[in-house]
Amino acid sequence: MADKTAKWDLNVSGAFYVDDQCIACDACVAEAPNFFEMEDTEGHAFVKKQPSSEKEIEECINALNACPVEAIGQDGE
Ligand code: SF4
Repeated sequence: MADKTAKWDLNVSGAFYVDDQCIACDACVAEAPNFFEMEDTEGHAFVKKQPSSEKEIEECINALNACPVEAIGQDGE
């Protein structure tokens, strides 16, 4: 389960975030490219935009479910 106290600073504030368990597999970016992006230097994903519509939220939930290490949370600020 993702830990909001261990989220990367690059995440924009809001419900969704990526924490430090991320292994940079790219699955979330493939699922929801409008909301997740890879930070190549440090090697992890982050949330670049929070979803607003139902459809956008569903897209981010799909990304959360696609994460193999449960590094994506939905219980952020
Ligand atoms: Fe990181 Fe999970 Fe995204 Fe893979 S799916 S890049 S492990 S947050």
